[in-house]
Amino acid sequence: MRTIQEIRCPNCGSEAERHHIVDSKLTRTQCSHCDYLMVTCSRTNKVIEAYAPGIYAKS
Ligand SMILES: [Zn+2]
Repeated sequence: MRTIQEIRCPNCGSEAERHHIVDSKLTRTQCSHCDYLMVTCSRTNKVIEAYAPGIYAKS
């Protein structure tokens, strides 16, 4: 089972999606506007995978 929550992308501020994947106890945040990706374990809050393009490249 998974539920999808609409959030603001922390990287670019556009609309992004947060997927709560109950079976695997993962929370996956992804933005289609800037390819931001963050996968955390919803049990321990540990970051499993994170990718934020352009976060250091803003001029
Ligand atoms: Zn974004």
